[in-house]
Amino acid sequence: MCEAIPQRMRKVYDPSYMLPPGHLAVSYILAKESEKKSKSLTAQGIVFIVFCGIIFDLDFFVPYLFGYPGGAHHYFPTHTPLAGIVYFSVLSLMFKNKFSKKTFIVAGMAMILHLVFDDLSYWLCLLGLESNVRPQIFWLYPFDLRRNIEIQRALDLYSQQKITNKDILLGYIVGAPKLFIIEIFSTIAATYIFLRTKLAKNK
Ligand SMILES: [Zn+2]
Repeated sequence: MCEAIPQRMRKVYDPSYMLPPGHLAVSYILAKESEKKSKSLTAQGIVFIVFCGIIFDLDFFVPYLFGYPGGAHHYFPTHTPLAGIVYFSVLSLMFKNKFSKKTFIVAGMAMILHLVFDDLSYWLCLLGLESNVRPQIFWLYPFDLRRNIEIQRALDLYSQQKITNKDILLGYIVGAPKLFIIEIFSTIAATYIFLRTKLAKNK
């Protein structure tokens, strides 16, 4: 059941979302695959796409301002689609003369993929393929009714137990390993594509 937290998991809190290396890898693979289909994607455009794919995780230090570990950043409005629209609008205004329309489309896709992969363990849990994972992304924020329940639950847990980033990381790797495995394979694939590109350039 997705809703239950067994006693053995009490210390290891149960968020489960992709880590920055996985997001970097997924965004890079997306950018390189898009590059094959569009000549308007420059090297700087690819860096921009990868940056957009990781931009949500720049809020990692926000929870510390409120006395929580950085791993709790998914509960903050900075990790929602609404925040993504704000980030994307600001970046579009800043770089509208620098990058092609295609670059912005792929950058937007990288941002959406970030949130999808952050929520993937929960979706796997709903399908019965993972267990003990709570919703990670509140897609309809500020109208997502689940968020208040989840925040209250997280606050209770954080106050009852001294949850650290290490607990959160362990909860992810040990508690819901399928996304972590996807993350490892994505990182290996991205590293391979990066090295292959480098070698091709040096020939
Ligand atoms: Zn994230």
